[in-house]
Amino acid sequence: MANMDMPVSKLAGIGKVKAAAFEKLGIHTLADLIYHFPTRYENRGVVSTLAEGRVGMMQSYILTVATEPKMARLRGSLTVVKFRAFDDSGSVEITYFNQPYMRDKFHTGETYRFYGKLTEKLGRFSLSSPIAEKYDEREALPELYAVYRLANPLNKNVLRECAKQALSICRTEITDVLPSELRAKYSLATLSFALENIHVPENLTALDRAARRLAFDELLQTALAVRLMRKKQTQSFAERMENGDISKFLNTVPFELTNAQKRAIDDIIKDMSAGEGRDAPRMSRILVGDVGCGKTVCAAAAVYMTVHNGFQALVMAPTEILASQHYNDLAPQFASLGYNVEKLTGSTTAAEKRRIKMGLENGSIDIVIGTHALIEDNVVFKSLGLAVCDEQHRFGIAQRAKLLEKSPRAHMLVMSATPIPRTLSLVLYGDLAISRIDEMPRGRQKVDTFYVNENYRERLNGFIEKQFADGGQVYVVCPAVEAQEDDADEGAVTVSVFDEGFTPPLKSAVEFAKELSERFPEASVAYIHGKMRPAEKNDIMTRFVSGEIKLLVSTTVIEVGINVPNASLMIVENAERFGLSQLHQLRGRVGRGERKSYCVLVSDSEGEIAKQRLKLMTKTNDGFVIAEEDLKMRGPGDFLGTDGARQSGAHGNYRMAALCQDASIPEAAGEAAAAILEEDPTLSSEAFAPLRKKLANAMSASETTMN
Ligand code: ADP
Ligand code: MG
Repeated sequence: MANMDMPVSKLAGIGKVKAAAFEKLGIHTLADLIYHFPTRYENRGVVSTLAEGRVGMMQSYILTVATEPKMARLRGSLTVVKFRAFDDSGSVEITYFNQPYMRDKFHTGETYRFYGKLTEKLGRFSLSSPIAEKYDEREALPELYAVYRLANPLNKNVLRECAKQALSICRTEITDVLPSELRAKYSLATLSFALENIHVPENLTALDRAARRLAFDELLQTALAVRLMRKKQTQSFAERMENGDISKFLNTVPFELTNAQKRAIDDIIKDMSAGEGRDAPRMSRILVGDVGCGKTVCAAAAVYMTVHNGFQALVMAPTEILASQHYNDLAPQFASLGYNVEKLTGSTTAAEKRRIKMGLENGSIDIVIGTHALIEDNVVFKSLGLAVCDEQHRFGIAQRAKLLEKSPRAHMLVMSATPIPRTLSLVLYGDLAISRIDEMPRGRQKVDTFYVNENYRERLNGFIEKQFADGGQVYVVCPAVEAQEDDADEGAVTVSVFDEGFTPPLKSAVEFAKELSERFPEASVAYIHGKMRPAEKNDIMTRFVSGEIKLLVSTTVIEVGINVPNASLMIVENAERFGLSQLHQLRGRVGRGERKSYCVLVSDSEGEIAKQRLKLMTKTNDGFVIAEEDLKMRGPGDFLGTDGARQSGAHGNYRMAALCQDASIPEAAGEAAAAILEEDPTLSSEAFAPLRKKLANAMSASETTMN
């Protein structure tokens, strides 16, 4: 057995309990461990003097111990060890809670590099539980330390040590999946260099090279997988649909279609009715357009054409909330036309599921709307003619492959509200036919956007009050679910090694909701986040839609698709944490009705790039401009589906592509994929064997849920 396949439990220091924790992270083998990439890095290399030190910022200080540590007992068994330390610019108190052994670690006159957060209370500064490394002028200490997604009782140090062990055991087994000509062409580091340096970075430059190489691999795999899938798709046939009586459907639409919508529907009709006899070349079309432009009705037209021709249609969305919204939109409309519509998601009860599966198999259900539960193995269709997929880039490649497998004679229609830069869209979608909906329904208003810092808090609260007084509703989006979570960002991208300087503390949805409900007792404030049960989320959303809840605090679970026309204000806290395209999507949640609407981005970040990015948001409403700029400033991470970053250790996600800030990577990967398949359309040559194997793994990997 190759060392790569060795179970992690074989590593020194890993017993049953820790092995179980690794399982929880999806790490079974040494290979899994090696591909469990850090989420960020501690940069202990930036040393400042105490005088320069900034409260609230993680920094290193080189300090000499001034007093012998003393230990005091607090309540019960709590202890605190305290001593003072100094540098040329001043002195500070250092404290360690509940680490009694720290008393014997430090001695007067010794010098350490302390890495921690400076705090201030009543004019007294202290460093609380800093990481301490013995300092010696003649020997440089490492600068960068990897930080990983954790599971109890694994801590940072265990993860770091295990990754190191795994690398040293497997070193000789790391075969590069890229032929050397390709590496040379795109100036990519070798795979072994990249894997070593991603876990144990030599320095920032090496880390950058490592991230770039691994990001390239991830995107190349996607680009290849998408192209291979596409090829199968375009070479196969789907059911040919007669363009029967589409006006019968259009009569049920309560508004006048925009020209862009009409064009998109024409495209769809042409695709699905092409060909001869029973066979039509399979449609693979993507509808792209800003939130609110009205993609759903275009998809519904395709659904109508399908069921009108006697076939079944499925509509798949990345979250339960979105699936419910589609269901609520489409079910009454199609029921009125005499069709049978059902919803199938992860939270559907077992008995319901059984009933729906039976209906799909015997053909009594015409339309099914749901989440990836729809593509579970035991869902069988009698005659699937169309699969609609909303925000497809949020589904993993394996899920997309499964959807294709499930529907051998179905047309494919993808909807996306994320304006993706062209280079990246080639990677993620290959060469899908595009219908762009570049026109908003009449009466839509531009959302005025402001960028403010904490100093405006009271004025902002006044502004919230004004919305309530006018009968409007308010969204507040926070980057974290609960306070003090190390790795709990939901949707927000964490790239601290690349962050500039001071990172403002994260606002959490749960706590901030509490604060706001005290501030606005009349408003019936509620919160919603991805860790809640689907039934709970549905309940909250329903009450927000009905207007009972006036202020909804949430994580980015409301990012896509949700439609509450009465909402007039979107506030985004820690706006620096979000991708611009994500902010653009969030902004699209308001301005959907009659009300004049606003978006306020709150950020205390002092980083220059962060400031520039947020300013751009106040200047343009064009999603495509924003997408291109975002790619330039922050790399491809923001477009890759934040759920991907939270997935388990399975290979083939976008962990590194999400961190890498090199905007040229998607283009290089797309170009390389095209060139590789040109040379070897089935990847069967010896040179591509490692790549082929890796790809097969990625496409069959079972991915975790996306909710
Ligand atoms: P998205 O493209 O974001 O999925 P939806 O399809 O959900 O947008 O449409 C957003 C809202 O706009 C829905 O309430 C829908 O009924 C409405 N809508 C769509 N097209 C039009 C139109 N041509 N005129 C007026 N309202 C429309
Ligand atoms: Mg939509």
